Amino acid sequence: MPGEKKTKTVKTIRIDVDKCNGCRACEVICSAFHAEPKYSSNNPARSRIRVIRDPLADIYVPVYAGEYAVAECAGRDKYTIDGKEYDECSFCRASCPSRDEFKEPDSGLPLKCDMCEGEDKPLCVKWCLADALIYEEREEEVEETAEREELEIGLESLANKYGLQTIQAALARMTKKS
Ligand code: SF4
Ligand code: SF4
Repeated sequence: MPGEKKTKTVKTIRIDVDKCNGCRACEVICSAFHAEPKYSSNNPARSRIRVIRDPLADIYVPVYAGEYAVAECAGRDKYTIDGKEYDECSFCRASCPSRDEFKEPDSGLPLKCDMCEGEDKPLCVKWCLADALIYEEREEEVEETAEREELEIGLESLANKYGLQTIQAALARMTKKS
């Protein structure tokens, strides 16, 4: 049965690959903004935007983290840019079991771009002095569906990594202590 329609503001970052110079300022500010406590460290491995770099070919492609994927996809394409072949995974936005990108390095929890929640404009866009990242907003009519909470996605990811029983046992121990 179709759900009710509602208007949603869709926030996107348009990427102008030709303008990106590979400086990685976007990775630095994203990881610093999401550090605990905020701005206490910067580690590009924790960034929700990664820049695919091939300096010899002058190719830089910023990719920001999208949806969490429980399983790896079945079909993969190849991309050839300036004679160099790239695996489709290189440009994929998903945090999926078959790759390390967009996973919190210590816990393995999936990372997803949250458009720098609480800020007036995404910080990677502000910090990109080359104007390769362009912030855009549009209104879209969508069907109301229950969105999965970050907590649910995180728990599912942990259960995939350690097994559901281990997570349940750990939770039971934690509840006992408190
Ligand atoms: S800050 Fe801009 S120019 Fe620098 S790597 Fe990121 S997208 Fe490219
Ligand atoms: S919008 Fe914010 S969370 Fe998303 S990639 Fe840019 S800096 Fe990171």
